[in-house]
Amino acid sequence: MWKCAECGAALEARCKPGKCKNCGAAKDKLNKEPKEIKGKK
Ligand SMILES: [Zn+2]
Repeated sequence: MWKCAECGAALEARCKPGKCKNCGAAKDKLNKEPKEIKGKK
């Protein structure tokens, strides 16, 4: 999971996307987001 620092969009991808698919921000604007903690809903 990657989060765009520009628009806040969450991108689901195994590896880092080239750019934000929502706003087109460069990949350096994408921050790794830890997966949701299991057992918590
Ligand atoms: Zn974005």
